[in-house]
Amino acid sequence: MSASTYPQLQLYINGEWLAAGGRATEPVINPADEAVLGQLPHAGEADLQAALAAAKAAFPAWRDASPLVRADLLRKGAALIRERADHIARCMTLEQGKPLREARAEVLAAADTYEWYAEEGRRNYGRIVPGKTPTQRISVLHEPVGVCAAFAPWNFPSITPARKIAGALAAGCTLILKPAEETPATGQELVRALHDAGLPAGVLNMVFGVPAEVSGYLLDRPEVAKFSFTGSTAVGKLLASHAAKSMKRATLELGGHAPVIVWSDADVDRAADMLVAGKYRNAGQVCIAPTRFYVHASRFDAFVQAFVERVEKLRVGNGLDESSHMGPLANPRRIAALTRLIADAKERGATLHTGGRPIAGPGYFWEPTVLSKVPEDAALMNEEPFGPVALINPVQSLDEAIARANRLPYGLAAYAFTQDSAVRQRLAKGVESGMLGINSLNISMPEAPFGGVKESGWGSECGLEGLQAYCNVKLVSEDQ
Ligand code: NAD
Repeated sequence: MSASTYPQLQLYINGEWLAAGGRATEPVINPADEAVLGQLPHAGEADLQAALAAAKAAFPAWRDASPLVRADLLRKGAALIRERADHIARCMTLEQGKPLREARAEVLAAADTYEWYAEEGRRNYGRIVPGKTPTQRISVLHEPVGVCAAFAPWNFPSITPARKIAGALAAGCTLILKPAEETPATGQELVRALHDAGLPAGVLNMVFGVPAEVSGYLLDRPEVAKFSFTGSTAVGKLLASHAAKSMKRATLELGGHAPVIVWSDADVDRAADMLVAGKYRNAGQVCIAPTRFYVHASRFDAFVQAFVERVEKLRVGNGLDESSHMGPLANPRRIAALTRLIADAKERGATLHTGGRPIAGPGYFWEPTVLSKVPEDAALMNEEPFGPVALINPVQSLDEAIARANRLPYGLAAYAFTQDSAVRQRLAKGVESGMLGINSLNISMPEAPFGGVKESGWGSECGLEGLQAYCNVKLVSEDQ
């Protein structure tokens, strides 16, 4: 696909598609060749005002619509996303860089998410609590919180907006979505699927702009009842403190630095197969990417060898090329960050087994990298690398592994490889994370809550928790 088939980028406000017109624009860059794909219009203050007014006006009718009506819209949207999956996946690879195979899977996961919330919205049950007297009736109602704002990142341009859109709409909320400016077309196509499925005007609006200006405007408005953000912990803290002024509800899915405990009884080859696939997916720009590997000392050498052998077979290239296992990094900020982090780890005595350098451009490519014996005070062991870098260290005991896994303020994903049920139970209890994969990296699915603890965030997306995150709970106590 050539850049000429990349869609025209627009805003979507009150059911209308709005082209740049006289608005400010910014170029969208293909990270694989640095070509300009298109010009993204920025919403001005009048656009943000119009989006907010539309979401507010649409709320009463959407709140009062039958969950069956909302389910029907989301299901039709899911069907259109599936029909258009090849086109949307190509847009994603062009603007984000990940291999087409990964992009397609992510687009289909967005369709699954729309569909799952369509069903779960029909089961947004409250409950009846036994009264204190024969005539008292106590009901607990779930009500949509109202107008919501959502800010999605560039690393998963399909699944992160889909969770926010489907959660809000299934619960009966209206939404103003800002997908990432680096990856606008994917989010636009998800919105288009709902528009084409019959979305009522104002229920979902999409804007782009300078992130701090858009979030600043929306989080200042009393009409916005809740916001959802996926991105870095630093920005999450900033938005949470801003929104605290008006006590807005929040769902925050922030950074991670996932530990992986490979225990003495683990099948090293199987673990290496799964972990190499998981680590270098999306060039490591994944909040739940396995990153700090704590391997039992008795298996350390075997694991490093098995891991490095597999990494050296990875082919890096343009994501549109079917033979590429790993695409470019999404933007030059990641190249600068990895250059600094890897130099620091080497200076502190880490062993570099493979990779460690940028690949000559054009494009923001980086070699798949493996370091071992990385001191805990290296910046890489403390800051999220958000890149294709695995850090492998030996540990002597389970207590040591758990203590080192829990050392950071992050608590998003964690993984372990062991068949030993006593070890599993200790890990399930002892590891501080929102999600734990044991002999599995599959921890993201519409049916189950996805979220972190500690500084990795508040609340969950997906699962029944993801729906309830868009609801207020109201107690009604009635008597004769
Ligand atoms: P960044 O902190 O500048 O931005 C992260 C995301 O937040 C981007 O999508 C950006 O558009 C958005 N953002 C930034 N300031 C904002 C504001 N004031 N209001 C609303 N949105 C705002 O970092 P970056 O260079 O784009 O990404 C690097 C870091 O971000 C990574 O190290 C990683 O920790 C984090 N990140 C995490 C996720 C995730 O899935 N949790 C996704 C993307 C980035």
